[in-house]
Amino acid sequence: MSNSIGPPLWLLAELTYRCPLHCVFCYNPVDFAKQPQELSTEDWLRVLRQGREMGAVQCGLSGGEPLLRDDLEEIVAEARRLGYYTNLLTSGVGLTEARARALKAAGLDHVQLSFQDSTREMNDFLSHTKTFELKHRVARLIKDQGWPMVMNVVLHRMNIDHIDRIIGMAAELGAEYLELANTQYYSWALHNRDALLPTREQLQHAEAVAEVWRARLGEKMRIFFVAPDYHEGKPKKCVNGWGKMFLTVTPDGTALPCHTAKMLPGLAFPNVREMPLREIWYESEGFNRYRGTGWMKEPCASCDQREQDLGGCRCQAFMLANDPAAADPVCVKSPQHEVVAAAVRRAEMGAPIEHPLVFRDPKNSLRLSSSG
Ligand code: SF4
Ligand code: SF4
Repeated sequence: MSNSIGPPLWLLAELTYRCPLHCVFCYNPVDFAKQPQELSTEDWLRVLRQGREMGAVQCGLSGGEPLLRDDLEEIVAEARRLGYYTNLLTSGVGLTEARARALKAAGLDHVQLSFQDSTREMNDFLSHTKTFELKHRVARLIKDQGWPMVMNVVLHRMNIDHIDRIIGMAAELGAEYLELANTQYYSWALHNRDALLPTREQLQHAEAVAEVWRARLGEKMRIFFVAPDYHEGKPKKCVNGWGKMFLTVTPDGTALPCHTAKMLPGLAFPNVREMPLREIWYESEGFNRYRGTGWMKEPCASCDQREQDLGGCRCQAFMLANDPAAADPVCVKSPQHEVVAAAVRRAEMGAPIEHPLVFRDPKNSLRLSSSG
């Protein structure tokens, strides 16, 4: 089997699940507070070497907040020395001028800075921190160091109408790329879905505004608008294909084909403490189970779209259809599509929200993961 499988191109190192922010749409696992010990520096350096030997060229350093690791500079330096293009994905908290200089000296290539909104009130409310001013200072630091900057804003019902100001702010801060990513309803976002799902009208308006800015700014700032799959009735080719391009390593060393795959039942994902990356990627059951199309059942197995979307997201199939091998329920052909359609209808009607927003924090993590 290994002959037909190419190497991973992206190695995503989730250095820690610790984070000073408490975003209501956080993609970290709901049970993050129960996760075992983080990998040591030596473990990460070995993982980087093994990834590069296999042919990985991009290295993403994320979390949680990766700046909470004191060894970030050492990890960046080794990644750079090995020849990776290095990307830091950060909330900005902890990026002081001294650390920015040290990371530059270590060879960091690129920074992705997240904002929650263009208004202080909403940014600070959604993250449950006072970080709006800090993020502005960090954006200036990033530019001072000469790094290309991606600004990332997760869109949802509570901030999507600010799209014009969000794009304006990114342009003022000198971002080269702006990623407007509509919320994906996993983990914390799934708990908060009723409060976060936008209406179709909101989405159409946001896309139209993004288009006007695109025409105005051209190459000066490239704008990516990641459309939400819930409203489209069409699944996305999740992580560009299971075990095809991305290899994620979680803080405790579990290797995953996508950062949420650990939730899937009946699948054992190896740990980089116990198995070399090459064996994990090519030989492990976890990485092979949903590769290609051979695992599919109906309606995917005979569908003419199966090579295009590979049946959508396995985690979404598990969360919404209770079957990781089912068609992604965002697909109109899925027998469980009504779950998604009903959520979108509730958003359209402005139906009352069933529970207050649940912020990502250790207390809520322990409560939700012990209540099942
Ligand atoms: S989404 Fe928010 S809470 Fe989650 S890791 Fe990123 S900054 Fe931290
Ligand atoms: S039935 Fe399966 S392969 Fe066909 S469009 Fe839906 S999810 Fe994709």
